[in-house]
Amino acid sequence: MTHHNGQKRYNGNEGLAMLDKMPLGELMAMAHEVRSAKIPGNQVSFVYDTNPNYTNICVSSCAFCAFYRKPGDPKGYTLSPEALADKVKKAADQGATTVLLQGGHNPEIKLKNWIAYIKAIQGKCPGVHIHPFSPAEYFFMAQNEKIPLKRLLKEIFDLGIDTIPGGGAEILTENVRRQIANKKATAHQWLKVCEIAHETGFRTTATMMFGHVETNADIIEHLLCLRDLQDRTRGFYSFIPWSFKPGNSRLAKKISQSAHPARYVRIIALARLLLDNFDHIQSSWFSESVPAGQLGLLAGADDFGGVLVEENVLQEAGHDRATTFENVLTIIRRAGFQPVLRDSHYKPIQTFPGPEPLGIGMI
Ligand code: SF4
Repeated sequence: MTHHNGQKRYNGNEGLAMLDKMPLGELMAMAHEVRSAKIPGNQVSFVYDTNPNYTNICVSSCAFCAFYRKPGDPKGYTLSPEALADKVKKAADQGATTVLLQGGHNPEIKLKNWIAYIKAIQGKCPGVHIHPFSPAEYFFMAQNEKIPLKRLLKEIFDLGIDTIPGGGAEILTENVRRQIANKKATAHQWLKVCEIAHETGFRTTATMMFGHVETNADIIEHLLCLRDLQDRTRGFYSFIPWSFKPGNSRLAKKISQSAHPARYVRIIALARLLLDNFDHIQSSWFSESVPAGQLGLLAGADDFGGVLVEENVLQEAGHDRATTFENVLTIIRRAGFQPVLRDSHYKPIQTFPGPEPLGIGMI
């Protein structure tokens, strides 16, 4: 048995046994214990953010994606920098502090357009933290512009950007990616972008989309790849899983239902136990459901994701869950935790009152 920062380090076989057969209650309790030792107090953080998409035009045609439109599709769009900055301004006026910016792999969008987007937001909303472009988009842009990844990332970093959202990871095994995302960055390439980003000075998150063609062994491999890279760079802030939403994606013909919420909770607990070198694990009210998000908080997660003023990707898959800031506070409290508004560096901005002690009427 080895220990990492005081936390036990499990190997892949142990992880697989937990995922395959450990009773869920036991797994949740183990993960909660690890989380309690790692995160002070009874706090759950969340961010007030908005996720506008600058374009839905994409040449990668991932089988699981209901969001993209092919070039030439009348429903395709690309925002101007001004239109994007206006959207961000509107969200900031409502209280958003961060903009998570992603879009399709659109060959018409060049590095100069990315820079124009960032500058337009910086000009119109100087206080808003810009959290732009997934590793898969950086990989596509580097190829499209024929420039080394290192130079591309440095150009963005030099604009004052220092965090990147870890989207487009799906499942980080080549076998799964060949089946559901065969035109975009491979697992190796996705990890390489993160590695170079971390070396450049960025901190990133890491995501995982499960509940499609992957096996349990693929999930373990995904987590262990992230843990290995984290050992080397320490650049990941958090791990964010969500389940595949079939919507009207091509993959829906094969897989018509999302994973069961219990599967989501199991994966959160497993991630907390295997990712011993990650500080934060996210459970989201948004990507699954309010009760699944709350159960995730009792299974080792310490972050509740974003309030999300605007979101289009899951909405296109028929998954629309608008909420308000006040609602998020209530949901966190009702799970028994104290809400803390954070920034994109996971630093607290404001701490809110914790949950009321349970009265007889609430039992
Ligand atoms: S997931 Fe991203 S890369 Fe894949 S088709 Fe959708 S927009 Fe394009």
